[in-house]
Amino acid sequence: MLKWKAIGVSEGLAHAKALIIKEEDLTVVKDTITDVAAEQQRVTDAVEKAQVQIAQLRDEAEKNIGAAEAEIFDAHLLMLDDPDFVEGMTGIIADEKVCAEYACFVNCENFQQMFRAMDDEYMQARAADIGDISKRVLKNLKGIADNAIDAVTEPCILIANDLTPSDTARIGGKPVMGFITRIGGRTSHSAIMARSMGIPAIAGAGDRADDIADGDDLLLDGSTGEVVIAPDAETLADFKTKKAEEEKRREFLATYRDREGATADGRRVVIEGNIGKPDDAVRVAELGGEGVGLFRSEFLFMDRDDLPSEEEQFGAYKKACEAMAGKPVIIRTLDIGGDKEVPALSLEKEQNPFLGYRAIRICLNQTDLFLTQLRALLRAAQYGDLRIMFPMISSAEEIRSAKQVLQQAKDLLTAEGVAFNANVKVGIMIEIPVAAICADALAKEVDFFSIGTNDLIQYSCAVDRINEKISYLYRPLHPGVLRLIRMTAKAANENGIEVGVCGEMAGTPGMAPILCGLGVTNLSMSASAMLAAKADLADHTFAECQTFAEQLLAAPSATAAEELFAGWRK
Ligand code: PEP
Ligand code: MG
Repeated sequence: MLKWKAIGVSEGLAHAKALIIKEEDLTVVKDTITDVAAEQQRVTDAVEKAQVQIAQLRDEAEKNIGAAEAEIFDAHLLMLDDPDFVEGMTGIIADEKVCAEYACFVNCENFQQMFRAMDDEYMQARAADIGDISKRVLKNLKGIADNAIDAVTEPCILIANDLTPSDTARIGGKPVMGFITRIGGRTSHSAIMARSMGIPAIAGAGDRADDIADGDDLLLDGSTGEVVIAPDAETLADFKTKKAEEEKRREFLATYRDREGATADGRRVVIEGNIGKPDDAVRVAELGGEGVGLFRSEFLFMDRDDLPSEEEQFGAYKKACEAMAGKPVIIRTLDIGGDKEVPALSLEKEQNPFLGYRAIRICLNQTDLFLTQLRALLRAAQYGDLRIMFPMISSAEEIRSAKQVLQQAKDLLTAEGVAFNANVKVGIMIEIPVAAICADALAKEVDFFSIGTNDLIQYSCAVDRINEKISYLYRPLHPGVLRLIRMTAKAANENGIEVGVCGEMAGTPGMAPILCGLGVTNLSMSASAMLAAKADLADHTFAECQTFAEQLLAAPSATAAEELFAGWRK
């Protein structure tokens, strides 16, 4: 038996066999061969396998996403059927006596160059498709499974370097009991996704993950970050007891499902859910969420090679509104950059991505992109209480510029006779310290604030939110951070606008009463944290919440504040 601890990022207990997700090694070496026919046969086999895989993906896409999205796979099948493409590879093997992998690599380069040199923009874009199908053929040649997650049929705990949003999306519906990642922390996006799906997860395991072999018996505790490899009988028995307690607590929390968020004496705090895809709203509604406080719209733009059209975005936003049946749905406009990449925009790599060309800064510069999203949002706002939120705001001028583009979107839709809702509330994220400090001025420009504590902590403590080496400096209870929240809430309260928190702090166990005491009116979190937040609030009067907040604000250090908080949680 071996035990260690990393960062618990998504609560819950899991017991299953380990499944290691290997990094794909697609490097190609120019090996020479003697048996040309055998090497050519490998190409034929790999291409045939790719055809079967793509046909399967096409059918799944047609069933789960739509016919239009499935068309891309038809195009890939046509390319694979092209004799020039396959003969390109077999020809290189015959001429140069090289291995199939190398032939595949060179053939891909040749075809891509040919497409890129064409005048037609559509044909130039086919270079990416060639890259895609060649990668698939190469993976087949190297015997790399299409996607290990797709192949999961037995209960397992995944071990990976990190999981991309599409990996995490793949987990849905599979018997994945939990996962462990080598990198990341509470606010990395795989952790956020784990919480919204209610899957126990641990991040920042680093090299300790090397202790785990495929098929090892594993225990994982997503709240403490503890991992046990090959547990003994006593540990297993303890685990079973803990699991039964967890089940009891779940039953208790379920009684809060249909209750409004409020303190024991009735001070309202609206409890909402964070989502990344429209379907997540269903879980928020099922778990008694009083709205969606943050829809991270950039998830619609990630893990794909093209941009979602106005129509596709409209469909997604409308779906979220419909799932929430009239309850508020705050949709944040694109927040890319930082740790979120959108391949279709080919943004340059930056030295300091979190401080760089990101979020509203991109949208105000690439207004076509912004206009498309705003048009889709205004149209979808006919189907519910949709509200628009701008991220990474640092000044009143940015708000005014963003509102000008919003007005432009309204003018365009009016001129085209397209139906939309013009009376949409507009708010901003407060996640840059200067915005918190100047919140009194910004409150006059908008209908609501939502404090993005993930970034607010990162910027005010000067600590990269995804760097596990310095995660000990990432202190949500730093009195400096609490003062920024207090300042923001005070400005909002005085100006009569709502002020939410939508960073991970909102859903951290025990934190709801503190944030309520600081003057926050709305809390938005992973769906799985909502019931516990309601229960935490119901345990205290508003006066108690205010006293907690005052004591933490007055604490001489982050450590002192953390000790106070831990004492109350006992
Ligand atoms: C935040 O910064 O707190 C936030 C909610 O946004 P994101 O985590 O997507 O940056
Ligand atoms: Mg943020």
